[in-house]
Amino acid sequence: DCRLKLIESRVRAFPDFPKKGILFRDICPILKDPEALLAVTSLFEEYVKDKFQQVDLVVAGLDARGFLFGPLLAQRLGVGFVLVRKKGKLPGATVSVAYDLEYGKAEAEIQADAVSPGQKVILIDDLLATGGTLFAACALMRQLKAEVLGCLVAVELKDLNGADKLKPHSVYSLLQYE
Ligand code: 5GP
Repeated sequence: DCRLKLIESRVRAFPDFPKKGILFRDICPILKDPEALLAVTSLFEEYVKDKFQQVDLVVAGLDARGFLFGPLLAQRLGVGFVLVRKKGKLPGATVSVAYDLEYGKAEAEIQADAVSPGQKVILIDDLLATGGTLFAACALMRQLKAEVLGCLVAVELKDLNGADKLKPHSVYSLLQYE
């Protein structure tokens, strides 16, 4: 698929960011190129429509780069988008969960009324590393009794085995790096 080649050409690698020893994959050039952004959203859309029959799904995007792709996908699917944020950013009743990052610790939070029990949810982020962030988002969905259909990421760092951590949930990634 030539769309994947285009997306791949729009991901840059920065050594030692944000800490020494981390090779940071920068997805900003995807957003700067409308064709590449369209390639990402159309590939996600095709995957979801092909894999999941249900129509009542909500897309939950992860703070912060999950917010870039999530609403575009949700609109294409004709479903709602909700935010999973870092702690302290959302008003009203929330539920939260602590988790480990590839570099540091964090707490993820969602508004208690963001998803309803039994709703089928797609989780989306820019990149899967250790899986800690998406794992936390799955835990939030469990707390709210929503059903996670699967996780979508533009980039998957295979070495860190994030997909294993997320089992039995499926992970769909557009680009994979060792
Ligand atoms: P994980 O929780 O899977 O270890 O890390 C994934 C989270 O950290 C994602 O929310 C992602 O945005 C961020 N992240 C970690 N490493 C990178 C990276 O190399 N590039 C980008 N764009 N995000 C990263």
